[in-house]
Amino acid sequence: MAIRSEVEHWDIVIVGAGIAGLASAIALRQNGRSILVLEKSSMNKEVGALISLQPNASKIVDGWNMSPFLSEKKPMVDEAFRLLNVKGELQVEMKLNTSQFGADRMLYHRQDLHDALRQAATSKEMPGEPAVIRTSSGVTGCDCDSGIVYLSNGSSVRGSVIVGADGIRSAIRDEVIKGSKSEGSKAIPTGLSAYRVLVETDKLPKLDVSEDVFDLKRSATTMIVGHDKRVIMGPGRGGEMFGLVCLVPDPNPEGEGTSWNNPAPLEEVLDAFQAFPQWVRDIISHAPEAALWQLRDIDPLTTWTKGRAIIIGDAAHAMLPTQGQGASQSIEDAEALQAFLSTIDSKSSADDIHEQLLAIVNARYERASLIQAYSRLQAKPAASQDNKTVQLNPQEFMQYNCNYSGAKDWVKRQRDAEELAYKQTAARA
Ligand SMILES: Cc1cc2nc3c(=O)[nH]c(=O)nc-3n(C[C@H](O)[C@H](O)[C@H](O)COP(=O)(O)OP(=O)(O)OC[C@H]3O[C@@H](n4cnc5c(N)ncnc54)[C@H](O)[C@@H]3O)c2cc1C
Repeated sequence: MAIRSEVEHWDIVIVGAGIAGLASAIALRQNGRSILVLEKSSMNKEVGALISLQPNASKIVDGWNMSPFLSEKKPMVDEAFRLLNVKGELQVEMKLNTSQFGADRMLYHRQDLHDALRQAATSKEMPGEPAVIRTSSGVTGCDCDSGIVYLSNGSSVRGSVIVGADGIRSAIRDEVIKGSKSEGSKAIPTGLSAYRVLVETDKLPKLDVSEDVFDLKRSATTMIVGHDKRVIMGPGRGGEMFGLVCLVPDPNPEGEGTSWNNPAPLEEVLDAFQAFPQWVRDIISHAPEAALWQLRDIDPLTTWTKGRAIIIGDAAHAMLPTQGQGASQSIEDAEALQAFLSTIDSKSSADDIHEQLLAIVNARYERASLIQAYSRLQAKPAASQDNKTVQLNPQEFMQYNCNYSGAKDWVKRQRDAEELAYKQTAARA
């Protein structure tokens, strides 16, 4: 008699343990729900770089009661965003504070944020059952209707819901968009690359710059802009580290380089930023290493869901880092899963599940797509060709991006705005 092998069943299968996947695991934890996270890598080395969470995401993270996991990681509250020209002259200073958007803009070391999310997803101290994370578990695809997820080792698991949080080269995206107008869509080069530089603050010499222009000890983000190059920099891990992301025109637009870890000689970075103030170049020259990353994003897809599967984070809406919203949008996605799947349990039908996944896409699609578009707009030349006039306005999209209180509230606000517009039109008629 043939032995029928049963496929292991989980309430939720999340593919990818990046910021989107781990945040979703935390958000979806509730009474007895079983959550499996499948991660391709061995997860023992997150990228050495700093990352900021904007107030729209910090507010959500605050609501998850993450402080036991985050507080020991020395997160920093960003007090101000400062814009300088290539001569090092201050153009704009935007003070940031909690009262503006109900939460702070936070600065983290990427490894620390990732560790804290992982700990919270698997901790017994958080609500519901801890998520299970399986590393070295690459996924090759899925059947969106049955919920079966296929792994590269030949095994498979079944999820009542599949969350594709597998980043810019998502395997789940390929399945979700199969048969739609977006079939075959991939992340595309944007014409920009970023050097990533991280330096230990106590390894830096005294910088030849007045504190009014730049203060290494200040918890603030500084952007220095030239025509087609810019440096975005700030402190992390309680001031122990200082991180720079240095944007340049893509030196190799045909290249495949989407990895964070393509080493780049420091001389190359210094050459690219010759026109920038010497004190910035001094910071760069004291870094142990630099890496170059080709920046890709994706045109808005026609759908993010099919059957029992949904894609989120970079898999759904990879965007340029020019507004620092990529991870923050992933966290908004996770909160939307939490809000709309709260009534979904092991007894829910495939139709009920798909209906809720569609509601999530409806709540998130327009906003995330607009923020993708704003991120492209913010990548346009930041100063005139001769670097003399700064054209970039960092406040331009801030209100839209940061004034956010969760997916259900967003839907209500959109509906109220439509009703108001309808009434105004009717009154004029
Ligand atoms: C230079 C730069 C600076 C940035 N700075 C900021 C910032 O300051 N603030 C901000 O909000 N955002 C920032 N971003 C964007 C942010 O990093 C991303 O938007 C965010 O990390 C996306 O998270 P994700 O979980 O969707 O994808 P990822 O972080 O790419 O995670 C995907 C995970 O899935 C795994 N995976 C992939 N394929 C498979 C598979 N087949 N099977 C199983 N697992 C798989 C990967 O190993 C990875 O762990 C920046 C981006 C860049 C390029």
